[in-house]
Amino acid sequence: MKCIECGKNIELTEKTYEVNKNQAHIRIENVPAYVCECGEVYYSDEVFERIESILSELDNTGNKVIDFNEKNKSRP
Ligand SMILES: [Zn+2]
Repeated sequence: MKCIECGKNIELTEKTYEVNKNQAHIRIENVPAYVCECGEVYYSDEVFERIESILSELDNTGNKVIDFNEKNKSRP
């Protein structure tokens, strides 16, 4: 895969995805992502859908740290 910003080849790695939701700070660790040395980050559609699904299942009980792989395993 090539970076849209700088055109360099980027390889799949793992990244911590962080987002603020309902005034809580959510961290999802070990998310597969393409991270370019120029700073651009890309997620595959599948991964992004999974992130959305994880976020939509959260209750509003404050800050959370979630392991992407564990969440993955718990789903068929
Ligand atoms: Zn780049």
